[in-house]
Amino acid sequence: IMTWVCLCSVFQVLVIGDLGVGKTSIIKRYVHQTYSTNYRATIGVDFALKVLNWDSETVRLQLWDIAGQERFGNMTRVYYREAMGAFIVFDVTRPTTFEAITKWKEDLDSKLMLTNRESIATVLLANKCDQGREVLTNNGVKMDQFCKDNGFVGWFETSAKVGTQTHAHTYTYAPMCTHTQ
Ligand code: GDP
Ligand code: MG
Repeated sequence: IMTWVCLCSVFQVLVIGDLGVGKTSIIKRYVHQTYSTNYRATIGVDFALKVLNWDSETVRLQLWDIAGQERFGNMTRVYYREAMGAFIVFDVTRPTTFEAITKWKEDLDSKLMLTNRESIATVLLANKCDQGREVLTNNGVKMDQFCKDNGFVGWFETSAKVGTQTHAHTYTYAPMCTHTQ
């Protein structure tokens, strides 16, 4: 069954977070190895497919990029329904985007639960780390503890601009998504 799942299925992974934190940029960097400073704010949902080899199996991740709905701070249930994993992104230069994380996580958990009643694997991305670590150091947040307290499986400092750790997080957590199937 596992083989069938890996060969035939696409694992839907959500990328959510406030407007301008770099969701689209992270996806473009990860999937197309490109970066641009002016992605148009797309309206609706965009998809990008990333095929990766994990443990000699082919895993297809379909990254869901939301656009135009961030200002509501929540998504419709339909959007969340089939997801196997999620990234919640914040901008290390803007504290308000960090404060919004728990709101996004609550929205996700309230609308989506696995059959074993657990939340889907959710990873926190501290993006724009090429611009400093203000949010990470200034307010004294201990990120590991924050993740534990708020139900994140882990966190990474990323930069879509430079390409920092924009791959590590999926290689680390893709297996988790596939195994929750
Ligand atoms: P989204 O609204 O979350 O999809 O954010 P975008 O991907 O559209 O990015 C918003 C702005 O932040 C754009 O001008 C990007 O070029 C910029 N940006 C995104 N990621 C990074 C990053 O890692 N470092 C820096 N310096 N800027 C970034
Ligand atoms: Mg976007």
